[in-house]
Amino acid sequence: MTDPLAARMRWWGWGVDGHDAPLPKAAAALLRDELGAGGARVAPPALERIALPASTLAPPTRARLVEAVGAGHVRDDRLTRIAHTAGRSYPDLVRLRSGRGLRAPDVVVYPGTHDEVAAVLALCAQERVAVIPFGGGTSVVGGVEPLRGSFGAAVTLDLARLTGLSALDPHSQLATFAAGTTGPDVERLLGARGLTLGHFPQSFEFSTVGGWAATRSAGQASTGYGRIDALVVALRAATPSGDLATLAAPASAAGPSVRELLLGSEGVLGVITEVTLRVRPRPAEQRYDAYSLPRFAAGTEALRALVQAGAAPDLARLSDEEETRISLALSARPVAARALRAYIRGRGQRPGCLAILGFDGDRGQIAQRRARARSILRRHGAIALGPAPGAAWAKGRFHGAYVRDELLSRGVLVDTLETATSWTALGGLHRDVGMALRDALARRGAPTLVMCHVSHVYPTGASLYFTFLARQQAGAELEQWQAAKTAASEVITGAAATITHHHGVGTDHLPWLATEVGEVGLAALRAVKAQVDAAGIMNPGKLLA
Ligand SMILES: Cc1cc2nc3c(=O)[nH]c(=O)nc-3n(C[C@H](O)[C@H](O)[C@H](O)COP(=O)(O)OP(=O)(O)OC[C@H]3O[C@@H](n4cnc5c(N)ncnc54)[C@H](O)[C@@H]3O)c2cc1C
Repeated sequence: MTDPLAARMRWWGWGVDGHDAPLPKAAAALLRDELGAGGARVAPPALERIALPASTLAPPTRARLVEAVGAGHVRDDRLTRIAHTAGRSYPDLVRLRSGRGLRAPDVVVYPGTHDEVAAVLALCAQERVAVIPFGGGTSVVGGVEPLRGSFGAAVTLDLARLTGLSALDPHSQLATFAAGTTGPDVERLLGARGLTLGHFPQSFEFSTVGGWAATRSAGQASTGYGRIDALVVALRAATPSGDLATLAAPASAAGPSVRELLLGSEGVLGVITEVTLRVRPRPAEQRYDAYSLPRFAAGTEALRALVQAGAAPDLARLSDEEETRISLALSARPVAARALRAYIRGRGQRPGCLAILGFDGDRGQIAQRRARARSILRRHGAIALGPAPGAAWAKGRFHGAYVRDELLSRGVLVDTLETATSWTALGGLHRDVGMALRDALARRGAPTLVMCHVSHVYPTGASLYFTFLARQQAGAELEQWQAAKTAASEVITGAAATITHHHGVGTDHLPWLATEVGEVGLAALRAVKAQVDAAGIMNPGKLLA
């Protein structure tokens, strides 16, 4: 029988064994020609090579944890501890592959109820042990790294046993899920009742409801369905000081919102155990249309016009010139990509920027919305490319994460970062962040590819999602990455854009949080933490450290 608590993902990368994404020949050639990278494939390390410090948890504390959650739900075997050393950021993956700089929890606990979570927090506060909440472990900002702060031991609290749909009110379109429920299970449980949440982050296959709420996640269709912040109606959480629960009322004027405090709290206040979400009828159809726009600026203007006219699609994605060039060059369907380029040229344009617009609904609604969007886009010089490129994008929508492992195996630095700003500032920010990344990596001797797309649009602005690739600086991979990350983050905060649109703060964005919320804002948030977590055991070193 399979172990229900076995790690959902392989310990060194994304997904499970057997789901590799070998690089197509064209991609290997592009890496070689443009980055001087992508040579021989280095296999991921063997588990036995990873050095693991001995657990420092006092045996009586371990015994109390066993008493709280049951013997089978307290684990400190080698694989379990290593599988909880890190999330899935680039620095995480570099550390996992090298085995250097890894910090492991002393023990991993798997509570099965809200009360068990509360009991674990209470005893860890008494015993002065750090607690790291762990959902899917897909954090890309260091959120689940088992830092122990000033404490002698660290317990990772994995929510894998806290799963399922605990209440459904279809009349009010409300569904309550246990926090450890993963994306596919959310959609399976709702789908069986003709409903959907409509939340599809690229990490959908492994991330959890609690993790989404704790990081203010955004999904690929959040332009239409709303980010998770807009979908969470109520939350229940256990803190070391006791429970926090909010009402599922549709709106409230009862002072500042505790719901908002828990959203994005990244495990530093307590553990979210239950989330009540707004759900909708499952759409009868989904259509993904592709357009070519002459330039990125024309594309962003087209998206602004769409959203400000109330005609935004559910999914809106606009690649810049570089992302478009590379995605066409690396297309899994090279013949179709060539035909697409020829078609765009035949219409009198150079292949510029590719946009994907997704629409959910019934046939009539979709037809109306598509026609309206098409007419607005055409006014901005867009050429309709039909449904095939959009359908290809939808088919591969979760594929990028697998490719990342393969790129790392070939010595390529590959990372993403995201921000959001007003429509007025978007073009300048796009230019300046790209320049900062290229300059920072060039100074360390590496040619760089920097690509970007608009991933979510709002009436007042949009998010920018950058992907950058360079040849890894062997032996100084983390320093090389940090140089690029710092340069981009300085530009972002200098331009008064957000340091993160949907990845969260974790450890990686910590140095820039005060520039966003202000010193007084930060002190106020720390005061809340001091109230609910007086000992400071909850996720030390993250968000409010
Ligand atoms: C390949 C890839 C693609 C991604 N794509 C997207 C995307 O499209 N959109 C997006 O928003 N993000 C994306 N992410 C980032 C990540 O998936 C999200 O931040 C996600 O919401 C994390 O969910 P999780 O369940 O994996 O949480 P974890 O990674 O386990 O935890 C994230 C943080 O939340 C805390 N936490 C987790 N569960 C709880 C809980 N129940 N109570 C309190 N605190 C908790 C943890 O301590 C940690 O600080 C991506 C990541 C990867 C690796």
